[in-house]
Amino acid sequence: MQLMKERILREGKVKNGSILKVDSFLNQQMDIELFEKMADEFWRLFGDCNVTKILTIEASGIGIACLAGQRFKCPVVFAKKNKTSNISDDVFSSLVHSFTHGKEYEIMVSREYLLPSDRVLIIDDFLANGAALNGLIDLVRSAGAYIVGAGIAIEKAFQPGGDIIRNQGIRVESLARIKSMDENDGIEFY
Ligand code: 5GP
Repeated sequence: MQLMKERILREGKVKNGSILKVDSFLNQQMDIELFEKMADEFWRLFGDCNVTKILTIEASGIGIACLAGQRFKCPVVFAKKNKTSNISDDVFSSLVHSFTHGKEYEIMVSREYLLPSDRVLIIDDFLANGAALNGLIDLVRSAGAYIVGAGIAIEKAFQPGGDIIRNQGIRVESLARIKSMDENDGIEFY
């Protein structure tokens, strides 16, 4: 998506070699007009897949997923993060290892919001090592629902997550795929 690439080039900041800060339009301040266009793009890609539910993870995925939900006219469910392991029986849960934060956390969603009859589109802001997306996939599989695919705003394609998930046969569509990035040399896309 050209608009996303332009925005990253204009406002994105590379930190510590492999972290991209996009707080001005995605991760803190949110550009809703851009989110609308992202939702249009996700609709173009997945609009014929009979999506019944959009699943994301708190917090940064929620805004993007809401606009997508409006476009797909379906409910948006977000997985909650919990640091404790006090998981009750009425949730699906999965363990996610965050490389960015160097810790493990549990994600969960109430069983009543993911049904075997659901056709789920997973939406998230970033795909890096694939741990968060893998956790979400795990939740959908636990529910016995069908995974239509994953719509990602920014994929850091120099990290292994995209390949790992696609090799499972899951369709992953990213609006911007970063080939390489560097504080000095800038950002290059596929
Ligand atoms: P993964 O589990 O694929 O390694 O990372 C996915 C999650 O980590 C994303 O949902 C996002 O919250 C966070 N993340 C990973 N890399 C970046 C990055 O370069 N910039 C930002 N802002 N978040 C990232």
